[in-house]
Amino acid sequence: MSDEDGQYFYHPLENIEDVELFYEAVERNHLTKAISPERPYTYWTIELYDQKNGIRGGGGLGVLAADTRRVAEKMNIPFALITPFYPYETHQVVENGMVRDEHVPVNYKDFGFKFIDTVNVKCCDNLCKLDVIEKKFKNTRIIAITEPNFGELYSGMSGSDHRLYQEVALGFGGYAALKLLGLKPAIMQLNEVATFFAALARLDELVRNGMDFYEAVVYTRKHTLYTNHTLVQAAEAEFSYEQFEKYVFPNLKSTAVKKWIADKFDGGRIKLSSVTIEIAELRSGVSKLHARVANYHDIAGNKVKFKAVTNGIDMNTWVLPEIMEFYHSFGILDEFNAPTTNYVEKLGNLSGGEIRDLKKTGRKVLNEVLKGRPDHNGRILHFTDDDFIFDFKRRFVDYKRPELPFRDPVRLRNILEERGAHYIIAGRVHAGDKVMSGKLRKLLETVAADEYLRDHVHYLPDYDEKLAYGLSVGSNAAINVPIVGLEACGTSWMKDVANLNFLISTHDGGVADASASSYLNVSGSSEEEELDMLYQRMEEAMAASENDFDLEYILQQQLKAYLPVISGARMLKDYLDYLFPK
Ligand SMILES: *Cc1c(COP(=O)(O)O)cnc(C)c1O
Repeated sequence: MSDEDGQYFYHPLENIEDVELFYEAVERNHLTKAISPERPYTYWTIELYDQKNGIRGGGGLGVLAADTRRVAEKMNIPFALITPFYPYETHQVVENGMVRDEHVPVNYKDFGFKFIDTVNVKCCDNLCKLDVIEKKFKNTRIIAITEPNFGELYSGMSGSDHRLYQEVALGFGGYAALKLLGLKPAIMQLNEVATFFAALARLDELVRNGMDFYEAVVYTRKHTLYTNHTLVQAAEAEFSYEQFEKYVFPNLKSTAVKKWIADKFDGGRIKLSSVTIEIAELRSGVSKLHARVANYHDIAGNKVKFKAVTNGIDMNTWVLPEIMEFYHSFGILDEFNAPTTNYVEKLGNLSGGEIRDLKKTGRKVLNEVLKGRPDHNGRILHFTDDDFIFDFKRRFVDYKRPELPFRDPVRLRNILEERGAHYIIAGRVHAGDKVMSGKLRKLLETVAADEYLRDHVHYLPDYDEKLAYGLSVGSNAAINVPIVGLEACGTSWMKDVANLNFLISTHDGGVADASASSYLNVSGSSEEEELDMLYQRMEEAMAASENDFDLEYILQQQLKAYLPVISGARMLKDYLDYLFPK
């Protein structure tokens, strides 16, 4: 770490070693004073991906939110997640090689949510009435706001009136919902800037209740954490002053707060990140690399520092129960699913035979999932224990390079043919993304044009949690090749490492938290070099799967390097350490 780097905060992975001391602290001292059932940790998110509870997200941001709550539940931390319940969700279907969206209505009553009451937000001279609904899980809960015309997740353009309405409804409506339930936030974690209005609602309330304006700003700043998932501020959508006059100002009671926010406009436009930075003194990025490179400036023009808190996953949700049983019985993970102090040594128990047995169990689960999920040709897939499966499962966005392995279809075919291997692609194209639906169409054409690829490459439409789980537990090697520098963290690869798959990846996002020798690294000084290395790594993975020594070595290395990163308990512990320093 250079001196220059020293100005940034680093996530201290070493701290995982005092994890037991930490849990004692959670139970006995300062944290329980700061956080209580009436003063929970509050987590605000425009996206939640929790299909079991009727809420379907778009990708990693929502999965992270759901996992964070589940980890809090397991760690018995009073936690309230506040999010919209969207009355419609989007599904993707493939027809004649073209992807099409379908909109399906969902009702919260079908998912065990309880109606609490209604709250109002003002927009365009109207009162919008929002239902407040709630579902409890031990010491945690999901509080959602909704109404029949709320629309879908990410519907419309990102600077549109409807998006602003959704964000204002979540912030002001969600804050009113907390009051309704008699809750005060111990901390407000803003999962990206779409949740900014929750902090603004709090500031307004403090001032309205008689607190001096500057004191209220300081108080709000000290209790608000802005978690950034994006790299460049420039790419963010803006809102106009006129839009704020319609949707935001009517919801503010304090003229001082109105003036404060009005002053933040630049040429009649505002980026929510710039005001979120002003209202949140605590700021985090989602991997070591991301926290270092995220390029944000405050209104005074100073570069913003982000504390690195690498995302983790809820291992109970994403890891095959039999593999979790293995981790627990050998003392690799503790009761909260954080790595034990001697997990590295204990990983020596992971033998080739054990890996094969566990992967067989995972393969059965995958076959079950696939029964209801035909591929793009309408085929129901079924794999034997010996089939080698590569997967690429992530949103179809350009920087993730889903089509990279298809640049040289002949070489890809030769690799797959060596071992009769299959290649599964699962990932949704963002509604209206013409570039990526074009790339997907082209990819499917490339596959269709080759007799061998046609039978061994499968696109599974409508990527969701079930497919993510099935593929994580049931395939053999995951391909994760974002353009280096563009992935904030990524969590799919964590599901793969934890489920004993080979990780073939570029050194980016959370993968770059550990050294590039920890997994099957893809690098190069040009895309051609990277592609060449990707193909080599695919061959290497297939060969290693047939050789116990290599199989054990590679998978043990991956787990040694990444179990602490992957652990959701580690993530929440890092957040709590940052929010409530001892
Ligand atoms: C885990 C998961 C993600 C996360 O994807 P990344 O590309 O790793 O950020 C997205 N969608 C679903 C359905 C997932 O299960």
